[in-house]
Amino acid sequence: MDYQSTRSSAFKADSVTAVLEGIAPDGGLYITDPSKIAFDWRSALRCSSRDMSAMILHALLPDFPDMKAIVERAYLNKFETEDLTPTVKVGDRYVLELFRGPTSAFKDVALSVLPQLVTAGRTMHGAEDDVVILTATSGDTGKAALEGFHDVDGTRIVVFYPYKGVSRVQELQMSTQKGANVKVCAVRGNFDDAQTGVKNVFSACREKDLGGKSLSSANSINIGRLAPQVMYYFRAYADLVNKGRINVGDTVHYVVPTGNFGDILAGWFAKLLGLPVGKLVCASNQNNVLTDFINTGVYDKRREFYKTNSPSMDILVSSNLERLLYLLCKDASYVAELMKKLSSEGIYEISAGILEKLQSGFVAGFCNDENSIDTIGRVFREYGYLMDPHTAVAWNVCDSFIESFGSEPVVVLSTASPYKFPAACLRALGEDPGDDEFAVMRRLNEISGVPVPANLACLESAKVLHTDVINKEDMLAYVLSYISE
Ligand SMILES: *Cc1c(COP(=O)(O)O)cnc(C)c1O
Repeated sequence: MDYQSTRSSAFKADSVTAVLEGIAPDGGLYITDPSKIAFDWRSALRCSSRDMSAMILHALLPDFPDMKAIVERAYLNKFETEDLTPTVKVGDRYVLELFRGPTSAFKDVALSVLPQLVTAGRTMHGAEDDVVILTATSGDTGKAALEGFHDVDGTRIVVFYPYKGVSRVQELQMSTQKGANVKVCAVRGNFDDAQTGVKNVFSACREKDLGGKSLSSANSINIGRLAPQVMYYFRAYADLVNKGRINVGDTVHYVVPTGNFGDILAGWFAKLLGLPVGKLVCASNQNNVLTDFINTGVYDKRREFYKTNSPSMDILVSSNLERLLYLLCKDASYVAELMKKLSSEGIYEISAGILEKLQSGFVAGFCNDENSIDTIGRVFREYGYLMDPHTAVAWNVCDSFIESFGSEPVVVLSTASPYKFPAACLRALGEDPGDDEFAVMRRLNEISGVPVPANLACLESAKVLHTDVINKEDMLAYVLSYISE
């Protein structure tokens, strides 16, 4: 029993159960302490990306047999490059390109693995009925989850996204999804509404007879979604060693465009497993609740919600922060108390001791739309490198910390292809994008010479198959009706 709920040590689970359940029965998240795992991080650095991934996943999710086979199946012919997540030098920083997978966003790294974990877990548990995967998405998780789970035996998947809250390309990626086991539905509300709705469906269904079926999650509340992301911090570090930029043992800083705190938490896991991670820089857009939290220790979600040009980070309730809080204090009843305050009052404050620990690992900043557009243009003009608005937020926030890092290298995580957000990118290059996003993609390609990923280009002629729009109060009924089909 390596895992327990962040809110109570009474709810324990082995790693297979944690993945299959997605969320603990008390609404907490399943967590283990990676610093307690004996992990030979130096040998991991000498591995290929896939072997590195298998090694890390075996350490974090020890109850799955043959992780190597799981990882091989997960990444077979899915990514553009053999190393999965290449590191490229841009000026004197390094950009870790996490978007070379089937849906052109970093979510692919984990959501290629998760269906394999669920399938292996079902077999181990002798499950006969379907696992229904519930997913709330701010834009990118939805498509990556659909891509991973469509037509996987023994699974069904339901994706909820904020109505009019995602980019046109993101919406088309989801609404054109084929597969006999998929449902895609827009919810009137923002991402936080969709995510809270999904959590509510989980707790309501605990009491209900689902006819043998069970629920799980493809969001990073599921540890099976978080664990596969730890690999790319090792990958980037190994790349810097291989390029001769650092020696094994040297410190590397990472800048992470952050929304739900999953990506950056994977960096904290990497550090706890031994990787010499320096600072983790938490970069937010104008929804800067995390910047304030890391700087002051007060988490206050009672603030205006902005729709920005980096929609995958338009989030005010960052679920995975709960896991970090647990790892910092190891006191589940304290975490439960904070989460209760967050849901009843919308605000909580951590103790000075925990804040100090938090600030020893993390620094934070934010960047508004105007500055992210400016950054895309500036980096393209100076280095010929085209980045998406999420990556631009990270690059921009990195500017404020770069001097404090001295000669130590900095890796900026690039979370999406610029072609997922073509209008913002073209505007950044000084042209008016107009309404036709596919014409914008072609124009961007002419200017930058960067090829349009095939999975995005083909959306122009794909048939829209999903048009459901519901109110957030109706999410439970929507799920129950699909379960009973
Ligand atoms: C999901 C996403 C993020 C935020 O990642 P979290 O794990 O939610 O912090 C950033 N950029 C892009 C492009 C994303 O899709």
